[in-house]
Amino acid sequence: MPKRRRKPRNADASDASGEDNVVLRETLPLQLRYYGDPVLRKKAEPITEITEAELQIAEQMLETLYTTGTGIGLAATQVGILKRLIIVDIGEDDDEEYEPLALFNPEILSFEGEIVAEEGCLSIPDVTADVKRPEQIVVEGINVQREPIRIEADGLLARVLQHEIDHLNGILFIDRINGLKRRLLSDELLRVQQAQRPS
Ligand SMILES: [Zn+2]
Repeated sequence: MPKRRRKPRNADASDASGEDNVVLRETLPLQLRYYGDPVLRKKAEPITEITEAELQIAEQMLETLYTTGTGIGLAATQVGILKRLIIVDIGEDDDEEYEPLALFNPEILSFEGEIVAEEGCLSIPDVTADVKRPEQIVVEGINVQREPIRIEADGLLARVLQHEIDHLNGILFIDRINGLKRRLLSDELLRVQQAQRPS
């Protein structure tokens, strides 16, 4: 999920916010998949064992996220890998600095409240819409240390986590807006679908 007001940040491991949650090695970015690609509609499979290969994918996903300059989250589905893995790096929100996070088999345990905010998606470039979602959530998953973790999230973090977990279930943010607004976006969606993306 991209966020407009975020400054581009580089993927340099010496970046101040502490990358110890995901250790960046020399990795190559992966190919982003775009709206119209059937993989985005598939349900990702749970990860039964976190091996070096899964950790490597998490690193490559983070690298891929940073190449976008604006992205704050990415689901494995968006790089054509149907495994339940998301990465999130929102940087700063509400004067709080957040570390990059990789979450295997993320699951939302509870929801609370409701809030509308603008969303976009790296797989649907240049399309944004207001989306109503629960305001606060509790998420469980496994981190890169292979430890179960529980996150109580609100604000931007809650939104991006929900957006990325949706991807693992083949759901896009445009599915969560009402019919009229969606129809208004149909021309833009068609444009994305027909665009020739560089490989
Ligand atoms: Zn997205």
